[in-house]
Amino acid sequence: MIPLAVPDLSGNESRYLEECVTSNFISSVGSFVGRFEEMVANVSGSFRGVATSSGTAGLHAALVAVGVERDDLVILPSLTFIASANAISYCGADPWLFDVERTSWNLDPEQLARRLESDTEIRGGEVIHRPTGRRVAAIMPVYTLGLPADMDRIVAIAREYNLPVVADSAAALGAVDNQRPVGALGADLTVFSFNGNKTLTCGGGGAVVGDDPAQMDLVKHLTTTARYGSGYDHDRVGFNYRLSNVHAAIGTAQLERIADLVAAKQRIRRVYDEAFDDISSLIAFPDYSPPSKIQQSSCWFSGVFVDRADPERISSILAHLKNSGIESRPFWKPIHLQDPYKNAPKNSLTVCDDIWFRVVVLPCSVGLSKDDQEQVINAVLHAVSN
Ligand SMILES: *Cc1c(COP(=O)(O)O)cnc(C)c1O
Repeated sequence: MIPLAVPDLSGNESRYLEECVTSNFISSVGSFVGRFEEMVANVSGSFRGVATSSGTAGLHAALVAVGVERDDLVILPSLTFIASANAISYCGADPWLFDVERTSWNLDPEQLARRLESDTEIRGGEVIHRPTGRRVAAIMPVYTLGLPADMDRIVAIAREYNLPVVADSAAALGAVDNQRPVGALGADLTVFSFNGNKTLTCGGGGAVVGDDPAQMDLVKHLTTTARYGSGYDHDRVGFNYRLSNVHAAIGTAQLERIADLVAAKQRIRRVYDEAFDDISSLIAFPDYSPPSKIQQSSCWFSGVFVDRADPERISSILAHLKNSGIESRPFWKPIHLQDPYKNAPKNSLTVCDDIWFRVVVLPCSVGLSKDDQEQVINAVLHAVSN
């Protein structure tokens, strides 16, 4: 079986793990946590990083840190992994669901501007969603598949309404926009996941990065049970969202190789795109841009997008790949179609509804061999030629 996305642990991973065991630092204290935080901050172009036990935990802590409270609304593109919406729910808030752009599969800045204009009003300095009377507390763009959203426009709109921006950059570490790394695109806080299926992994883990020292202190405080002083004093309800030294050891070894790991993902994307270029029924994922272009995705996942809403063609590709010993998968089912979020406020979601089920994710492990990728390509070509 050719797997979808498995980690490559061929660097210093085992050496650092052994260091944890021999030094007896396997829990929340240890030198790898600090090293990991420093490296994440560096590679993302941020002042500071805080390690968390998962990307979801990082999103939750970031939302609390920017002031999201019970009954608030947080603007979210509906095309995302359920964790983005769940983090909003953990605050007692709800997502206000927006559509994505057809070109990037990211939050549509046009609809964002239009809906803020038509559906909200400013009351006592707060943005109120008129249909529900609820406060809009933040904007959470998602960098789908590792491609940064149009942050220049999104951040400009956020400033106009004085709304904080928390970027769900779960799989986008290593992406750039106009040569800026992904932590330097204007979001107040940017969140990464280091889950096992991401380009870089800790086994499980996450990180929050940002530039405001006081806000980053708050994130650290929230993720470490809001403790102060040297005793058992806690000044609010905090979380135990720390990353263990063991997980940070793996993450540190992975971060040492970030350039190679991301380059491998981008190369895999390019090979798929070239192989399917002249197949009219298959469209490339957005957006491997050659280095000359402004935005460059970290190409977390690769695959194909079927040109028409043709459920039969899609299931025949999935079935043929399965029979050929190749793992493939459909993509995120949007949030507005998920049971817990059926009643969340939403706008017209035409693009979401049209694209999500036409995506087939193909094997794209950083260690995917040339031969294996060729086997995947041949199986896809075979499936679509029938
Ligand atoms: C992976 C992912 C998350 C969740 O990260 P975990 O580390 O698994 O909690 C959140 N949002 C997006 C877009 C993701 O891809």
